[in-house]
Amino acid sequence: MKTTEHILHIAKFNNNCPGCYTTDGLKISFVQEEIENKFHSKMQKIVAETLYCHACNNIIYPVNWNEDIDRVYQYHKKQAIPKSSRVRLQPITYGIILFCFGAVVALIYFLGNN
Ligand SMILES: [Zn+2]
Repeated sequence: MKTTEHILHIAKFNNNCPGCYTTDGLKISFVQEEIENKFHSKMQKIVAETLYCHACNNIIYPVNWNEDIDRVYQYHKKQAIPKSSRVRLQPITYGIILFCFGAVVALIYFLGNN
């Protein structure tokens, strides 16, 4: 099993950091995970949202957000469009399906000739 992180959207906030009050340290990221195994891969439905301050190196949790941060967050959230969470098949799975199909065709052919 392999997990890949897909960054949907990253944005800089010009708001004051609730921790250190800097105005140019905040950055929000919207990340969606994809879990992959041998046969298929699937995007997770949940998008991880992290507001990080690069000035004080802290994650700013929603409990510490003020109204302004929340407003900018809502704006950027609309731009982070999650990818479809449907299952995608890996090439090997197509190979197996093709092999089974070939086996069925061969069987029908074989039975038809007897
Ligand atoms: Zn800070």
